[in-house]
Amino acid sequence: MHAQPYVGRFAPTPSGHLHFGSLVAALASFLDARHQRGVWLVRVEDLDQPRVVSGATEHILRTLECYGLEWDGEIVYQSQRIERYESILASWLVEGKAYHCDCSRQQIAAYGGVYPGTCASRGLVAAGDRAIRVRVPAEPLGFVDRLQGPVSQSLQDEVGDIAVRRRDGVIAYQLAVVADDIAQGVTDVVRGADLLDSTPRQIWLYHLLGEALPAYLHVPLIMRPDGEKLSKRLGSAPLEPQRTAITLWRALAALRQAPPRSLHGAGVKELLAWAIANWRVEAIPATAHILEDSI
Ligand code: GLU
Repeated sequence: MHAQPYVGRFAPTPSGHLHFGSLVAALASFLDARHQRGVWLVRVEDLDQPRVVSGATEHILRTLECYGLEWDGEIVYQSQRIERYESILASWLVEGKAYHCDCSRQQIAAYGGVYPGTCASRGLVAAGDRAIRVRVPAEPLGFVDRLQGPVSQSLQDEVGDIAVRRRDGVIAYQLAVVADDIAQGVTDVVRGADLLDSTPRQIWLYHLLGEALPAYLHVPLIMRPDGEKLSKRLGSAPLEPQRTAITLWRALAALRQAPPRSLHGAGVKELLAWAIANWRVEAIPATAHILEDSI
């Protein structure tokens, strides 16, 4: 049981339409919140403007509404919160928790995925295009996911100092997500398992900000029949409003929440009401769900 009231959220990036995989993540987050009589927020992660697709935010929000996934309060747009992120970065730079880095893309590629701290002890890096990185600890960071169980990662060995602002000035997802989840009082993060390996980085940022961690629940990814992850890039079809009840039934099945036969033919409202009352985290499979055919 939560000491504080439950606050959950869905935080889509408007780089494309809402596809079946993101619907499953949104649904899991919504059901977990509503089952616990909690608040459910929607936040639009539109920081990376070159990736934002025009009309995507509207499509995502309208689709959530069609599926009865009604959120509480005002929608927060990350593009309107830059000042907050910059002020965190400024204090980390002053406190020596972060530093500027002017390594080029090619250099970073040559490091093979783990940043070796090249700029960490360089002192002043000339003004211009510079990223900002946060120093990571030597000890591994661990947490217990509500579904995936214990997860541990050595940021030093597997990631290196974390980029929290890119060279082009764009605030990194890792920082924005933590700053916003804290500001919005989020107690429970329920999202797709593709973000499981970002979680230790985020936990480190919580630590630097001196804030308590939320609980984490990473739900399985949805794979296409050919074994590819369903994604915007792989051109999964936008969800169609006419087929909502059938698609919702399939999304519940992907989470192994099995509505009774008596609900066959029921509408979205009725299905959701059943799913909220009968939500069982223990039933969700920890591994990817493979679609039998396309959605
Ligand atoms: N904006 C991220 C995405 O669409 C999700 C962020 C999160 O849930 O932490 O993949």
